[in-house]
Amino acid sequence: KAWPQSEGLTFDDIQQIILETPDENRARDWSNYYTSGPHLAGKNLSQALWTRDRWQASGIKADIIAYDVYINYPAGHRLALLEKKKHVLEVKHECSLTEDVLEDDPTTNLTDSIPTFHGYSASGNVTAPYVFVNFGTYQDFEHLRARNISLEGNIAIAKYGRNFRGLKVKRAQELGMVGIVMYSDPQEDGEMTEANGHKPYPDGPARNPSSVQRGSTQFLSSLPGDPTTPGYPSKPGVPRTDGNLSMPRIPSLPISYRDALPLLQALNGHGPNASSFNKYWQGGGLTHKNVSYNIGPTPNHIQLNLVNIQEYTTTPLWNVIGIINGTLADEVIVLGNHRDAWIAGGAGDPNSGSAALNEVIRSFGVALSKGWKPLRTIVFASWDGEEYGLVGSTEWVEEYLPWLSASTVAYLNVDVGARGTHFTAAASPLLNDLLHDITSSVPSPNQTTNGQTVRDTWDGRISTMGSGSDFTAFQDFAGIASLDIGFGNGPKDPVYHYHSNYDSFAWMDKYGDASWEYHTTIAKIWALLAAKLSETPILPLSAETYAKGLQYYLSTVKETARKSNITKNFDFKPLEGNLARLQTNANFFDTYTRSLSAELGEHVPWWKFWKKVRLWYQVKAANSKYKMLERQFLHPEGLDGDRSWFKHVVFAPGRWTGYAGATFPGLVESFEDGDLKNAHKWESIILGILDRAAELLKTDAGNETVSYR
Ligand code: GLU
Ligand code: CA
Ligand code: ZN
Ligand code: ZN
Repeated sequence: KAWPQSEGLTFDDIQQIILETPDENRARDWSNYYTSGPHLAGKNLSQALWTRDRWQASGIKADIIAYDVYINYPAGHRLALLEKKKHVLEVKHECSLTEDVLEDDPTTNLTDSIPTFHGYSASGNVTAPYVFVNFGTYQDFEHLRARNISLEGNIAIAKYGRNFRGLKVKRAQELGMVGIVMYSDPQEDGEMTEANGHKPYPDGPARNPSSVQRGSTQFLSSLPGDPTTPGYPSKPGVPRTDGNLSMPRIPSLPISYRDALPLLQALNGHGPNASSFNKYWQGGGLTHKNVSYNIGPTPNHIQLNLVNIQEYTTTPLWNVIGIINGTLADEVIVLGNHRDAWIAGGAGDPNSGSAALNEVIRSFGVALSKGWKPLRTIVFASWDGEEYGLVGSTEWVEEYLPWLSASTVAYLNVDVGARGTHFTAAASPLLNDLLHDITSSVPSPNQTTNGQTVRDTWDGRISTMGSGSDFTAFQDFAGIASLDIGFGNGPKDPVYHYHSNYDSFAWMDKYGDASWEYHTTIAKIWALLAAKLSETPILPLSAETYAKGLQYYLSTVKETARKSNITKNFDFKPLEGNLARLQTNANFFDTYTRSLSAELGEHVPWWKFWKKVRLWYQVKAANSKYKMLERQFLHPEGLDGDRSWFKHVVFAPGRWTGYAGATFPGLVESFEDGDLKNAHKWESIILGILDRAAELLKTDAGNETVSYR
């Protein structure tokens, strides 16, 4: 043997198993199980044990890894519109803060359904006038300040969408606001709206007016994971911080648009009109309901009373970790999905991914039963506590960092696997080519002509890694090349009731994925990505594509710099120079590994065994470089300010976006802040890192005797 190989099956055998095993009825069964009861973080031990047992039944070694984490459970809430009459505030409207129970949807009728609340929100009881703050983005607040809208001491009412909800709270808090209410405006719902004549769920694809988006308000661009254990695992008895870095201090509540209507209507006539404000302020989707989208603030005789009562506790949560040991123990592929949900249902988020993961496991189980032993080690994770702030995955990465860092080649995340018809992907560019390749061998569930693959029905766009799911600790803290895939919903798909009781099994079965084919398709893509990464002798990664990605990112940074007033004094040539060198070395390196790959396929007579041995070392060394390339981009001190947990100099969640990624964040933020000195600090850090990466890729090409030109 020239190279340690997988045993028992060829790649073609495995591919066939992966494409044939996932089954729609099974996926539906898994979904039915996971969505049949509450599975909030720290309250889902039975589902963790069940998952472990199912994995073991497929022949995969699996265990539960627990952490003691600081989280909150809802204890009470109130939101009331008050009007002053003869000097006393009277209740004009009491918000229901509940989602309707639907006869057609059994999950909405569970007696122990989870109230509407925000993860990591602050308890409080405030009464104040209120202001419509559009989406509550950083820019939105800047526009309000520019127009001297009074914010301090008032409550914000914000539309969901655009940025991560916790960052709406963060900015409101910084500006002295005393509370914030968020609602789901149908403006964000695409074409399937009531205003367009569609019936709301359960009778049609439009948003149910009572639906509420729960969700975490952690400041995730400062610190994900348990807020009280930054950078280290939440094991029982560890010292803890106060968590102030990532937890809000002002109370917040999520509400439905039905509950928001009277509040928005009471703003009519007060303050400037949103649409007159500027082009970013188009109001919203409730103009047909007598909402004129005035900004306010409401006059003193119209106020809101916002009450949020949260019980904070330190409680265990449970990751399920499975493993298939490969021939190579120091080259590892990790696949993960979270299991916890805000609600009883969670058919889309996350259990479409959980159902798919169980089908991936079952497929690999079939291969194992036929005598397969993979070349590389494959690890599976069912995370707990993602919803509160990526807690299960972050604590696990923090605990196993030395091992992960030494061994892990890639992390493959699926959160919402299916909720619509549009394949979406984000990835480290190291994995881009692989993603294009694999999606080209999986049939699309959405074919307009016979035989189309997922690649054919997808525009091929791969976003940069931001945050908001479990890849964050892998990509941004451990420097492990990661990707995140799923079928998302487009503007023509039925409205997805994100983090609402209506993200239910019944919704999925009727509107989301009635054929369950998107579930099985995402399972096939996911398993095939893992199999290709595990089985290909030369890792199927592209240093060249990574370098090209970096070049593209740098061009976008230049854009930001152009807008900053310090740009005249900043010279991009040194960065471009180092990047060009990385690009050259990356091209040579990929060419070199392709030649190694070709050599592996050549027949070598037994008496030239030394040639095989040498090749073995070359392959091992080359793979190790691919594996360690992403690691080069870590800066141990981390980003500036309150963002030091984030170690990657290329990828981080945007300071004020959260979900959407910032590229070269240190540099970009220096430009945004107009801080030339800091821009130079980041320039020199990045120059060093690009140098190191170029150096890593160079050695083989330079020193080895194999000709690769
Ligand atoms: N997927 C979760 C959300 O978007 C992540 C929460 C977090 O990252 O804090 O709400
Ligand atoms: Ca921690
Ligand atoms: Zn999720
Ligand atoms: Zn979620």
